[in-house]
Amino acid sequence: MAEEFFQVLAECLEREGRRKGRPGIAPEVLKEFFTDSRPETEELRSQPRRKAAPPSMPPHSLIQASPALETSASSSSSVPISASATGNGGDVALPDSLDMLAETVAQCRRCILAETRQHVVFGEGNPHAGLMFIGEGPGADEDRLGRPFVGRAGQLLDKMIAAMQFTREEVYIANIVKCRPPGNRVPSPDEAACCIGYLKKQIELIRPEAIVLLGATAVTFLLGPVGGITRVRGRWFAYEGIPVMPTFHPAYLLRQESAKREAWIDLQMVMKVFGKTPPSRKRA
Ligand code: SF4
Repeated sequence: MAEEFFQVLAECLEREGRRKGRPGIAPEVLKEFFTDSRPETEELRSQPRRKAAPPSMPPHSLIQASPALETSASSSSSVPISASATGNGGDVALPDSLDMLAETVAQCRRCILAETRQHVVFGEGNPHAGLMFIGEGPGADEDRLGRPFVGRAGQLLDKMIAAMQFTREEVYIANIVKCRPPGNRVPSPDEAACCIGYLKKQIELIRPEAIVLLGATAVTFLLGPVGGITRVRGRWFAYEGIPVMPTFHPAYLLRQESAKREAWIDLQMVMKVFGKTPPSRKRA
């Protein structure tokens, strides 16, 4: 199954390469690129082994060359790929600049969340960011201040970003829904479907080299029903040709300290995309 996938992907890339006057990429190289290595755990021992992605071959340069990568996710695939997303935000024509998009979203009343919000939380960060983080939706602090991830979970996210050798100003942070669901409940599918078009436009305009999805809600509404967060975290997906890494939401990590180790494994895989090397552990 995996061999067949890489063969099809290589053919797609070759076609695209011919169209753009660039050489294709061998299936073996693709396979090597899309796989990774992680420390041995009980969970990982039951999964197929994968090799590390070579830092000299960032996923973006490969995936971006192939619009044909829009392959449906397969829960049985060892290399899960999905470009599908639930909802389309109504397919309305949206502005082609982040500033104008933010103005549009600030006026939005397309779903019931507009009735209880204090502020629309559009997202913030570097409009040319290589790395984008996507969470679920604003909480109380975010709603009050109109900024994403500024509460306790946001402080932890800042630490995660710093551990990845980025600054908050270098990355871009957004959410599935731009208005706070009352009581911090999970956004409903209707609310997410109303709002997801804005996020898709943000991704289209920023065009990051990699996306980190924070938590199950972000995974479900951007990638579709690919599986629970504990199953899909640490595995590469793709959205519109952009490598996507699901991991735990910082709010969950505040409750489940033990999950931080797995989240760090996921984040280190993302660091490799940018050629960043995690600090080696000192041995006693
Ligand atoms: S959550 Fe999104 S769709 Fe709903 S009102 Fe806010 S901006 Fe509009």
